[in-house]
Amino acid sequence: MAHAPQSPDSPKPSNFLRGIIERDLEAGTWSPRHFGGSPGDAAHHRAGPADPAKIRTRFPPEPNGYLHVGHAKSICLNFGLARDYGGVCHLRFDDTNPEKEEQEYVDAIIEAVRWLGFDWNVGGTSHLYYASDYFDFMYRAAEALVGAGLAYVDEQTPEQMRERRGDFNTPGTDSPFRSRTPEENLARLREMRAGSLDDGAAVLRAKIDMASPNINLRDPTLYRIKRATHHNTGDTWCIYPMYTYAHPIEDALENITHSICTLEFEDQRPFYDWLLESLADLGLLARPLPRQYEFGRLNLSYVITSKRRLRELVAEDIVAGWDDPRMPTLYGMRRRGYTPASIRAMADGSGASKTNIWLDYAVLDGCLRADLEEQAPRAMAVLAPMRLEITNWAELFGSADHIEPCHAPAHPQRPELGERAFGLARELWIERDDFAEVPAKGFFRLFPPKTLPDGSVVPGNKVRLKYGLVVECTGCEKDAAGVVTKVLARALPDTRSGTPGANAVKVKGTITWVAVHDALPATLNLYDRLFTEPQPEAGGRNFREVLNPRSKVVVTGWIEPSLADTPREHRLQFERHGYFVADRMDHSAGHPVFNRITTLKDSWTA
Ligand code: ATP
Ligand code: MG
Repeated sequence: MAHAPQSPDSPKPSNFLRGIIERDLEAGTWSPRHFGGSPGDAAHHRAGPADPAKIRTRFPPEPNGYLHVGHAKSICLNFGLARDYGGVCHLRFDDTNPEKEEQEYVDAIIEAVRWLGFDWNVGGTSHLYYASDYFDFMYRAAEALVGAGLAYVDEQTPEQMRERRGDFNTPGTDSPFRSRTPEENLARLREMRAGSLDDGAAVLRAKIDMASPNINLRDPTLYRIKRATHHNTGDTWCIYPMYTYAHPIEDALENITHSICTLEFEDQRPFYDWLLESLADLGLLARPLPRQYEFGRLNLSYVITSKRRLRELVAEDIVAGWDDPRMPTLYGMRRRGYTPASIRAMADGSGASKTNIWLDYAVLDGCLRADLEEQAPRAMAVLAPMRLEITNWAELFGSADHIEPCHAPAHPQRPELGERAFGLARELWIERDDFAEVPAKGFFRLFPPKTLPDGSVVPGNKVRLKYGLVVECTGCEKDAAGVVTKVLARALPDTRSGTPGANAVKVKGTITWVAVHDALPATLNLYDRLFTEPQPEAGGRNFREVLNPRSKVVVTGWIEPSLADTPREHRLQFERHGYFVADRMDHSAGHPVFNRITTLKDSWTA
């Protein structure tokens, strides 16, 4: 796995989870564990050898949407810790909710985690799991809890249950069904399972403490009745486990050591421990049991990551789809051109702490530039084209149609990447804003000669055409409306780049260009941030009020001919303009389409 190099003097990001794992490893906390080669109960693991994985972590997405940059944080954290400490990280689909989950999302998640550079195949074993494969065990565990008097079937209405739960200031009161015997409860649970009760007529609850100051311990629901077809188990079940019941069990069956989740689960930890301890006491789960640790969410400025909000962006056609290059989905970020290494570097660099963090979007762009600066080949493109005619071309080269061959390194610091070739000719495309009829102070590119009041003439300005020669502006042509249509210049003899005379004429500016005769037309999607405010929803604001109207600007530009066979997803730097990628859907040799990933410099911070 390739990782963005960390410079030796960059401080290691603070990550409290590393401290916990290092102490565990030193104390041998997890060394008594056995692993049965696959997920399973206590007996299954006990029969296996000592667990070869020093720790086990997991990334447990619910397959109900596309992964976003926040998930990338969790993926890098979990897979990264496993990699760094001789462990294994499982990819587990938390597919216990039958209603919202789809195969399309499962496939997209698998593809995204792989694309980020992580692998759940270790030593020939694939640690890709589905929580729904554990439904049998979950039900067996439920019967065991009932048998031990630790769970009961409650047939109150949802309103009665809500009323009796109490609140932060008021302890709850016991359900009238709480005192049923284990035998009664078991019979009733089996009826629930067999489908004799209507949806919502009863639930299975843990029997813990209705007066607990932690509301999550006031007899939380373990199972509900729901007639729904599940994408994996079909119509086998009409009762489904609650997330809070299922998740700890999934961890334990998989021999997870460090169950890492976001802060909002902190109040669930006492129930997590209660459940696993109870099932271990009953002999169903092996000790030592997994432990839950919470860390702060990653939020990126100028970005929204709530799945619900992302769905709104797509549904309201504010973006073109889940893979719109402005979407913070991994699908969208990939299409935009972000490299997996840049996303990993951002995630790793943000460490792990006990508070939710807002990371500046510029950090991600900085990681991208650091990654691509060394790798991305260079090329020239003109985004806002204006014609430049070199009026003394025929005089200099003997013919108006003469083509002067030019070469440029594919990368200025990496000669091994070879050279690119293109022609310099009489007519070129240059950027419209590389010419100014009346130059502002400090403008060093093309501007025409100027006649002073005393009749003397200040010559037009000289610039170097990159990899070409030096030209001096002699004027311009305009249309009837006064809009400049062509810039005129004369070339200075003996100033070819790479020749001894090249430095004889000093210029203050160098401009990029492509030649009219060999440039290729290209669609250039100039993407920028989707929102104009760093926290689009701050203070309850409607994000639609702060959409950036210039988040996507499409231009038809010209690119150098060496790019004729650029494959999709190829990344490069257009000199002076930024990093671009050949679009993975729309680009083809006949119709080049490039997306701007980011500019060369951050233009958003003052
Ligand atoms: P969201 O609510 O943002 O849609 P989710 O938590 O519902 O995300 P899951 O599929 O349940 O989506 O998430 C899988 C894992 O990714 C969970 O462990 C979750 O805590 C973690 N995760 C989600 N968003 C972030 C984030 N912004 N920062 C860090 N981890 C995150
Ligand atoms: Mg979730």
